[in-house]
Amino acid sequence: MYNPKSSKAEEFISHEEVLDTLKFAEENKNNTGLVDEIIERAKLRKGLNHREASVLLACDLPDKNEEIFALARQIKDEFYGNRVVLFAPLYLSNYCINGCVYCPYHRQNRHITRKKMMQEEIRREVIALQDMGHKRIAIESGEDPANNPIEYILESIDTIYSIKHKNGSIRRINVNIAATTVENYKKLKEAGIGTYVLFQETYHKESYEKLHPTGPKHDYAYHTEAMDRAMLGGIDDVGLGVLFGLEKYRYEFAALLMHAEHLEAAFGVGPHTISVPRVRPADDIDVLKFKNALDDDIFAKIVSCIRIAVPYTGIIVSTRENKATRERLLNLGVSQISGGSRTSVGGYAEPEPEDENSEQFEVNDTRTLDEVVKWLMELGFIPSFCTACYREGRTGDRFMSLCKSRQILNCCHPNALMTLKEYLEDYATPETKAVGETLIQKEFERIPNAKVRKIVEENLVKINCGMRDFRL
Ligand code: SF4
Ligand code: SF4
Repeated sequence: MYNPKSSKAEEFISHEEVLDTLKFAEENKNNTGLVDEIIERAKLRKGLNHREASVLLACDLPDKNEEIFALARQIKDEFYGNRVVLFAPLYLSNYCINGCVYCPYHRQNRHITRKKMMQEEIRREVIALQDMGHKRIAIESGEDPANNPIEYILESIDTIYSIKHKNGSIRRINVNIAATTVENYKKLKEAGIGTYVLFQETYHKESYEKLHPTGPKHDYAYHTEAMDRAMLGGIDDVGLGVLFGLEKYRYEFAALLMHAEHLEAAFGVGPHTISVPRVRPADDIDVLKFKNALDDDIFAKIVSCIRIAVPYTGIIVSTRENKATRERLLNLGVSQISGGSRTSVGGYAEPEPEDENSEQFEVNDTRTLDEVVKWLMELGFIPSFCTACYREGRTGDRFMSLCKSRQILNCCHPNALMTLKEYLEDYATPETKAVGETLIQKEFERIPNAKVRKIVEENLVKINCGMRDFRL
């Protein structure tokens, strides 16, 4: 029944295989010999399968857990260094015909403010995002074929890419919209999107159907097989994620890795990113109703085990998490975070009026992008606005093979420095700029290749002189 290569959701996320995995993990969670063996295998930096990783997640031996955290930190350092990529969400419309019980955009919610941005409003929002310094955004929209058809999404993508305000531009648009057809994924690919992101919410079919009682999203197989259709439509960078808190976390963890293994087995390329959202309060959503909420320690363990299991996959954490949690997770494996986010429809150009509420969830980190950038640098991270790979055609298996050979590291670090320099010149406050200039000087010396160092040195001077958009 379990078949990672199958195109059927119930075969590549086989419920029986997940249950067997959880049983195996529970039976072996204190099996020191096996845990050691798995940790040794993980040290090869080639990842772990869902069974092995599930044993590490279940393990409750304090000294072994310390080893797991330490290994996650090492892998994060080796693969991602001290760089953190920044992005912002842009909600286009909160019209939605689905009945998801954890999201305030569900159709039955009559008191949330329904909004859909027209192209002119999108233009204003994008200018505001550019004025903050963002180069990479994730567009989000509810599912509503009448209000938010694919043509609206495509027109919005065109609008966003077309806006060049002062030195600003959005260079990569990731798209988080409902599961759709191969034909529509082809259109998104042609529109030049970066990653197609779709959260599974929960992999547990029975729970999934209860949590999505109405609307097209009720169809578990159609939703779970969406990434296969995206791949068939030519999108080779896809982003997975579950909403932690809906189901038992060990189930979600094992199934999430099975999904990653399926993409690798069926298409030769695993997920580009994995997001780790947790349920948050919102308009008519009470988190206390969700009995599977995770505490911060378990959450940190999950992130560490994902880092070890799929070293080449970026891990994203949003402003659902507060500053302290984000700091902890950055050290354990997170490589991308959002900053200065608004989760309402619009809200960047002007704050949402007090009598309106179109937010999808309450933001837990309300700092400005400049504050986030300064904070990251003070922690020793390099905030990166890099979008080079997608623009250089380094996507899908090409991207993954560069990652696996670690060659990508020769690009990430210099690109981070050059895009940070642009940010400092165009958008930073004087205090942030001062911290950033010192950091760039220090990090510049760490570029190992003399030829690359020379290129970066020249480009930094050109950025000082007003030129923009350098990348390797
Ligand atoms: S999670 Fe998505 S599909 Fe579900 S109600 Fe919210 S916007 Fe609609
Ligand atoms: S070079 Fe590629 S992998 Fe590295 S930060 Fe830039 S876009 Fe990401």
